[in-house]
Amino acid sequence: MPPARELPRLPGTYALLIRIAAPLTFQAGRLGTVTLMPGWVVYAGSAHGPGGLLARVSRHRRAQKTRRWHIDALTLAAPVVAVWAAVTPERLECRWAAALAALPGAGLPAPGFGASDCGCPAHLIAIPEPDAICGALAATTRVDVGLY
Ligand SMILES: [Zn+2]
Repeated sequence: MPPARELPRLPGTYALLIRIAAPLTFQAGRLGTVTLMPGWVVYAGSAHGPGGLLARVSRHRRAQKTRRWHIDALTLAAPVVAVWAAVTPERLECRWAAALAALPGAGLPAPGFGASDCGCPAHLIAIPEPDAICGALAATTRVDVGLY
């Protein structure tokens, strides 16, 4: 893996890699109780507000924050260990969620998670191992997908 770069203050789409070390149960708003088994999960989202990718991903990485989205409940309980991002005004997160869900062995442990505003099955995908993530994301766009 290349060394991590600092995220830009520009709009873009990101994928958070989160390590689930032990069975994890938490409340995710209207979804109710979510339980994740040990392994890897990836969350796909986009940042189009002030501060762009840097502001949004920094928030996801903070240990303390007010719960606003489904993903907040998860990142309060488990660390973000890697982030892939594409700097683009285009919203790629639904394509990224679909590409991740199509990986061999992928699963959707929390149907509807992160997908309140779109028609996706979920924006949280469980994957057996992280090596294939970057290639799957990059295949959806001509924009460079970097590790941050
Ligand atoms: Zn979606």
